[in-house]
Parts: sequence; structure tokens; C-alpha cells
Amino acid sequence: MRVIVIGAGAAGLCAADALVAAGHDAIIFEASDHLGGRVRSLEGFADVPIELGAEEVHGPDNPVAEAAKALGMETVHHITTDDVLRLDGELRSLDQAQIDPDVKRAFDVIDNLGAYRGENWSAEEFLIRSHFPRRAWHYLESRLGVEHGTTLDRLAMRGFATYQRGWEARETNYTLRGRYLDLFQPMIARLEGRIRLNSPIAAIEWSDAPRVRLQNSEEHAARAVVVTVPLTILRERLLHFSPQLPPEKVAAADSIGMDTGMKIILKFKHRFWEERMYFLHTDGFLPQFWTACKGRSDSAHVLTAFVGGARAEALDNMSVDPVRFALEELDEVFGAKIASHSFERGLIADWGADPWIRGLYSYPTMQTTEAVREALARPLGGKIFFAGEATNTLGSSGTVHGAMETGWRAAAEVRAALE
Ligand SMILES: Cc1cc2nc3c(=O)[nH]c(=O)nc-3n(C[C@H](O)[C@H](O)[C@H](O)COP(=O)(O)OP(=O)(O)OC[C@H]3O[C@@H](n4cnc5c(N)ncnc54)[C@H](O)[C@@H]3O)c2cc1C
Repeated sequence: MRVIVIGAGAAGLCAADALVAAGHDAIIFEASDHLGGRVRSLEGFADVPIELGAEEVHGPDNPVAEAAKALGMETVHHITTDDVLRLDGELRSLDQAQIDPDVKRAFDVIDNLGAYRGENWSAEEFLIRSHFPRRAWHYLESRLGVEHGTTLDRLAMRGFATYQRGWEARETNYTLRGRYLDLFQPMIARLEGRIRLNSPIAAIEWSDAPRVRLQNSEEHAARAVVVTVPLTILRERLLHFSPQLPPEKVAAADSIGMDTGMKIILKFKHRFWEERMYFLHTDGFLPQFWTACKGRSDSAHVLTAFVGGARAEALDNMSVDPVRFALEELDEVFGAKIASHSFERGLIADWGADPWIRGLYSYPTMQTTEAVREALARPLGGKIFFAGEATNTLGSSGTVHGAMETGWRAAAEVRAALE
């Protein structure tokens, strides 16, 4: 009997790869028609791949960075002070803007997040109570809210003490010149014949020896099952467990945030922004854009807007075309309808609408404690194991490297239980 892994994202690939390397017979069932989950690279839109999901590598000492180095993948580094901030209606590069006292205060807020030990307010409430100036507020909405795939009203201040993503918000992250998915090619090659696409699992029976049932009613017995589906799939009870999941597991899934959201990707005939710009932080409805091909292509002029949380929900409810909406926001920022005039093509990567993902990535709400992540990650009866970015207890939830770490952790748990 095999070990069954549910989901072929970063966590599922790492779990199956580690199990096979240790001599186990592992198979992955993936609901969608593609590998990689929230790592998804699009060819053909520009002369370099466009990342619809994960795009940045966070920090130098993590498994993604190591895999990129081992594969000789070139990296593209970006400097925070090359970012552009709209302040009082004017565009300023951050190296000029940071001498403004209100922007400096925003930098101080970010730099001190890791040391925050105060009340567990939302980031929004914290800023209101600290009388944070409104004119620089949108910089934090972009750097903290958008960065965590949500909005400041939902993101918990205490979460920053535990999760690296918060206090890394001003550090220099980097992108890959090639496809993000290429990081997983060696694993995918090693797992050849062990991955079944278009195979959604509907139910897991674990009272006795574990069994999974596919949506097409096919059934498979397993020695162990590794569940790597996104948090939303557990939260929305889209995977049926029999016996039911214990109450602490259900409560854990309900206590972690993961909101709807999308990337709006816009290709232009001309570049109408400063060449050195990477991020653009605006005071509009969409607080963050970036230059998706910077340092990778001289001829592709692409801006990506990213929105999650309450703003993404509002955008869904407005019944507007997100591409047109983003263009109008850029017209307002750059003036003279320059974005609309230069517009060539647009596309939306709406992760909330993806039936097997249903959102962006997990973030700490006011209910998310370390104990909550541990409860989500805890195996059931030495038979059912849990991986996926939301189960990361090492401070790297919401990232690709965090998902990889959980896949390897779950594989080690399976081995300890079976060997
Ligand atoms: C827009 C966006 C931008 C991001 N940017 C970054 C970034 O810059 N840097 C970074 O490090 N991270 C980023 N992330 C987060 C990162 O992509 C994720 O944390 C990581 O890829 C999650 O991997 P995973 O294996 O946990 O889950 P997933 O990749 O979601 O894999 C889970 C898999 O389970 C499958 N599945 C679901 N239900 C079933 C079922 N019933 N049966 C079988 N299969 C099922 C899904 O189809 C999916 O393939 C971003 C994510 C998004 C969406």
C-alpha cells in the first residue's frame, strides 16, 4: 500500500519526493490539470514568463533560494529605495520620500513589528490608536496589508512577532529571471508516473486503515495520507473526513486568515514610469503595483496590481472589469490618460475564483496563535498528516519556502510513524 499525497503544490511535491527518496511508494492526487498549485508561470504574455502566483524569493537562507542556486537560476535583486510612493498627489522615489517625517514613521512601524508585544489589535486599530498620519497610511496598506494578501483591518499586530513576513517587509527580496516553477522540475522528473492530475479527492476515511475517495467515486487504500490542500479547502469543509476532524483542528482552520484576491497584469506599449521603479505604492483603491519584468526584459513593459482582503471583496462586488479599473487608477496616478493610451493587453489571475485554491495565502488574524498553527499541523492517529503553507510553524507561512518546509516535515512524520 502506498502513501497518498493530496495536492501537487510545493508542499505536496516536497512530501512525495522525500518519501520516495526514503524508499516509500508515494503517489500524488492533484485536483487541477496542472502541477505547482500556487506557483504558476505563464508563457507568451511577454517575452519573459509572468508569474501568476508566487513571484518573489524571501531572503537568502531558505529552500527556494538554495534550489535556485543549485539549479544555477539567475536572480534579479531590487532595492527598496527604488520604489515609488505617491504622496500628496505627487510621485516620489522612496529615497527622497523617506526624509518626510510621516514616511519615516511608516518605516519605523515596519522596523519595529518583530518586537511588538502590545495589545493584539488589528494593524488598522494599532495605527488609529497611535495617531498614525493618514497621508502615509497607504504605504503601510501596501507594505503590510497587500504583502500579507489582505487588508490592515484583518491583520493582527501580534502575528508579526511570530511570522517573519511582517518584519521582512522592508528587506530586499528578489525575483527569478526564469520560471518559478522550474525550481520544482528536478522533483517533478523524479516523481514521473507518480502524479495524477484532474483527480480531486472528495473524502478521507481514517477510522481504520486510511482510504481516500475521489470525486469520480474511485477508492484507494493507503498506509498514510498527507493532506496539503490550501487552508480554504479545509475551512470550507470541501474535503470530507470520516470520522470528522477533531474540534481543535476545525477551530485551528477557522482561526487563520486566507482571503480572496487577485493579480491584475497589464502590458503596455511604452514605459511611462521611471526606469528604476520596482514597486509603486499609491493612495488609490489598489495600493500596490510593481514592474513585473524589471531586470528581466528591456522590451516588455508590464505592471502588476495585487489586491486581497476587504478591497478584493469590494472589487468583486463592484461588478467592474478589474483590468479597466486598474488602468483608471494608473491614469489618475500618472495623468493624461497615459496608461489607457499605452495599454496593450491585460489579464487577471483571480485566485479566489480558483475552485481548488479559493484565496491567496494564509495570514495571522487576531485568533491565530502559534498553538493554532501547531494544531492545524498535528497528525491524526499516525495515519493522516498535514502539510501546506498554512501549517508552517517555523515563521514562514504564506510563502513557497514555508510550504516546502512543511512537505519535508510531514514526510519525516510519516516515516517516523511507518518505519
Ligand atoms: C498571487 C500570489 C502571490 C504569491 N506570492 C508569493 C511570493 O512572492 N513569494 C512566496 O514565497 N510565496 C508567494 N505566494 C504564496 C505561495 O505561492 C504559497 O504559499 C505556496 O505556493 C503554497 O504551496 P502549498 O503546497 O502549501 O499549496 P498549493 O500550492 O495551493 O498546493 C495545494 C494543491 O492542492 C490541490 N488541491 C486542492 N484541493 C484538492 C483536492 N480535494 N484533491 C486534490 N488536490 C487538491 C490544489 O489544486 C493545489 O495544487 C503567493 C501566492 C499567491 C496566490
